[in-house]
Amino acid sequence: MTTTPARIPTGDRRDEIQIYDLHKSFGDVEVLKGISLTVHSGEVVCVIGPSGSGKSTLLRCVNMLEEPTSGRIFIINEEITDPDADVDAIRTKMGMVFQSFNLFPHLTVLQNCTIGPIAVKRVPKAEAEKQALDYLDQVGLKHRADAFPAQLSGGQQQRVAIARALTMDVEMVLFDEPTSALDPELVGDVLDVMRRLAETGMTMMVVTHEMAFAREVADRVIFMDGGVVVEEGHPDQVIGNPQHERTRTFLDRVL
Ligand code: ADP
Ligand code: MG
Repeated sequence: MTTTPARIPTGDRRDEIQIYDLHKSFGDVEVLKGISLTVHSGEVVCVIGPSGSGKSTLLRCVNMLEEPTSGRIFIINEEITDPDADVDAIRTKMGMVFQSFNLFPHLTVLQNCTIGPIAVKRVPKAEAEKQALDYLDQVGLKHRADAFPAQLSGGQQQRVAIARALTMDVEMVLFDEPTSALDPELVGDVLDVMRRLAETGMTMMVVTHEMAFAREVADRVIFMDGGVVVEEGHPDQVIGNPQHERTRTFLDRVL
């Protein structure tokens, strides 16, 4: 299989994520069948689509948690799919927030938010704590800095996970269904934090089933089905006036 890019990287600093003809197979099953897309600086791109369409695999390829079968991915003009790439260094530019919050259970909220900067970026402890408290303040949880994850609600834990992603001074955050594991009454607080983060100009790629959020916050919506991008565009178009039958069928089921 060739790895010829769908188009040549532009070298434009504003293109934070560039994906060219991405394919991913697990065994004989091809899960991503040629995805090309660009996420610009400050853009919020929501990825929607049925379960099993390859949304998580796409996000996981962006930070090389999954290795693409073919295709090329550039993060701020550095090719993360280059066999010689310093993947760990490129990953420090990206925060990732998962459906399951993945906090360290034996560390406090504050420690969860300082361990990365201290261990990876060698930030002095006092400075890391000061920064972490600022981020915890942004997600409304500064007052729970000394709590352990198990003492928090799922929604609070997810807000800590977002704060933790931000403490690494990331340039972009990837979200994989961040509210899907939450009780319905806790979803709103997490979406509020994400909405405020979007307003700060953070580049965000968000896999979500929250259509109201996508419609309100996304600059662009990508509808995936069967490992391909079926339709993409402004949320008013893709969600409000879909052109493809598969998009309409999906939206009829979730709206
Ligand atoms: P989505 O996030 O849209 O629900 P996924 O990317 O999780 O879809 O999965 C797409 C397809 O790839 C599914 O059929 C899933 O079973 C398969 N898949 C995902 N990860 C693996 C894996 N590690 N090994 C084998 N198959 C996988
Ligand atoms: Mg998924």
